[in-house]
Amino acid sequence: MSPETQAATIGRPPGFVFRNSNSGRSGVHVSELYCEGVSVAALAKRYGTPLYVYSGSMIRERYETFDHAFRDLPHTVCYSVKANSNLSILRLLAKVGCGFDVVSGGELLRVLAAGRRAAKRVVFSGVGKTQEELRAALKAGILLFNVESESELSAVAACAQGSRKNAPVALRVNPDVAAETHPYISTGLRQHKFGVPLREARFLYAKAAGMPYLSVRGVSVHIGSQITDVAPFRDALSRVAELVRELRRDGHQIDYVDAGGGLGIAYDKPEPSDFSRCAASYAQAITEPLRSLGVRLLLEPGRSILGPAGVLITSVIYEKANDGKRFLVVDAAMNDLLRPALYGAYHEIIPVRSNPVARSQVVDVVGPVCETGDFLARDRELPEVKERDLLAVLDTGAYGMVLASNYNTRPRPAEVLVTGKSVRVIRRREKISDLLRLEL
Ligand SMILES: *Cc1c(COP(=O)(O)O)cnc(C)c1O
Repeated sequence: MSPETQAATIGRPPGFVFRNSNSGRSGVHVSELYCEGVSVAALAKRYGTPLYVYSGSMIRERYETFDHAFRDLPHTVCYSVKANSNLSILRLLAKVGCGFDVVSGGELLRVLAAGRRAAKRVVFSGVGKTQEELRAALKAGILLFNVESESELSAVAACAQGSRKNAPVALRVNPDVAAETHPYISTGLRQHKFGVPLREARFLYAKAAGMPYLSVRGVSVHIGSQITDVAPFRDALSRVAELVRELRRDGHQIDYVDAGGGLGIAYDKPEPSDFSRCAASYAQAITEPLRSLGVRLLLEPGRSILGPAGVLITSVIYEKANDGKRFLVVDAAMNDLLRPALYGAYHEIIPVRSNPVARSQVVDVVGPVCETGDFLARDRELPEVKERDLLAVLDTGAYGMVLASNYNTRPRPAEVLVTGKSVRVIRRREKISDLLRLEL
């Protein structure tokens, strides 16, 4: 494959592109992966592997593209912190005016650390908010509590009363629409734990309206993650729009509709270079049902902003074959990137240095963790690589590092953020001593 077609295959400018490299021996045309203006191999050499590498320009560009897609309606993009919660990434997004969706007190603290003034653009979601978390959010003065049950409504009211502060609330409704995605990340069906059933919503809104220190402000919905067909979004928002009309007839003030997150990315093929088209059709599906309502729209994208903007770099430790089945044992494992083990997720894997004369082979790419589920790819056709060669696992900017653990007492990877030619370590590699520190 020529470097040009390789670059096209990756197709992720300004993030990750292949460039000709001078290190080609004997006239062989070698090209190597760059993150913006920086050689990924040089990053691996300097900071070690496994290593998460993010493109700052790409994160900014994707946020702006997403935001632009909704320009026809008053809206606030509240990036879903759980997709990638690194402080430097939150800071980058806060700087360009992005708001945040948090699902824990810890995430709220991260947002406040990234930018104090971001609090007024924070929405708080999640089925199990504790008193302590509610108090912290009230104190910070967040934009909206997305309440998910009658019990939580009472808890928010009690907290608000205790701190003599009004709590702005929306109920997260469960629209009972099916979304084509992995069952673990589908959330909008009746049998899921999320939200309150649509038909109970009016009753709960009436209840909320009667509680002191609560101000009913909106309706929220989030039907799941990695959804690539926009029809379920349209269905869910149509149901929400209908509810908004009913609630207004009941006398409630509904200023906000929070449409949640969930827009998927193409893991299995090159990201359609045209994210703007994809964002536009998503925006159309969501805004059409709401157009005449005059609400401010809140959006909670996570994966669609961060996913393609990060790669995980890993190095081949061993090659082995068991009865003809071939394995590449690499130094990144399920503790570093859980998605393949957890969801059977597919991530594109490419050599960091591409050699056009390399033959292809079919391999399982596995980590050193003692679990059969510890794989990054199965039966994958890859160009032949050698021990110590570097591989890039693509589209790991979202739900990568945030799901990393210390299983097998493995220190978590370092993270670097590249913008142009500048490189910043945004999280140091853990040491074994960091892992032992809290144990007595
Ligand atoms: C996870 C989550 C999101 C983000 O989902 P993506 O698929 O990453 O866009 C948004 N809102 C809520 C409530 C979530 O739980």
